[in-house]
Amino acid sequence: MRVGDPAVLAAEAVELPNTCIVSRSLDNRMGAFVALEALRLLKRSKPNAAVYAVATTQEEIGWRGGGAKTSATGIDPAAAIAVDVTHCTDHPGVDKNEYGDVKLGGGPVLSRGSSVNPVVFEHLVDTAEAENIPYTLAAAPRDTGTDADAIYTARQGIATGLVSVPNRYMHSPNEMVSLDDLERAAKLLAGFARRVNHQADFIPT
Ligand SMILES: [Zn+2]
Repeated sequence: MRVGDPAVLAAEAVELPNTCIVSRSLDNRMGAFVALEALRLLKRSKPNAAVYAVATTQEEIGWRGGGAKTSATGIDPAAAIAVDVTHCTDHPGVDKNEYGDVKLGGGPVLSRGSSVNPVVFEHLVDTAEAENIPYTLAAAPRDTGTDADAIYTARQGIATGLVSVPNRYMHSPNEMVSLDDLERAAKLLAGFARRVNHQADFIPT
């Protein structure tokens, strides 16, 4: 071993009752699952737009972009949605007035704010409403702490949304998410993709 070698705590994934799963690195491996599951759902009823799923690296080293920025630059999408986790606030000691009311199993969290394109945000909310997907809104007036921050400033600017899955004990070897929330997030992404076509306009009015 030398200074700088990476290491992880060897914690196994455990499935718990009430459709919950505990594992290390759910932040953000679950994002890859959600994106791929959305593609699988789209196979059944194909969208009128090209859809790309990307698994990126180097997000949490400062949100300068890493894989998200290079992917967004290479693909040049009309719109992009970052998929990430967000902290649950449904445990003692959290000030919900400050951090919002984010529940495990409460459905995806949709952020709005300076990194998020308002048209993409409205499409996400409309999709959730139309498909009866429970969701929570989150205000992100500054950076979001996700790949969305790198994507929306890529190229000449890319219309970007952010869908987050509630995660309890984030950044520990025992992160917990609800499998229901993963499926809801995938359904939301697939529904969003079906709502847009090549003429979609993401310029806010
Ligand atoms: Zn994280």
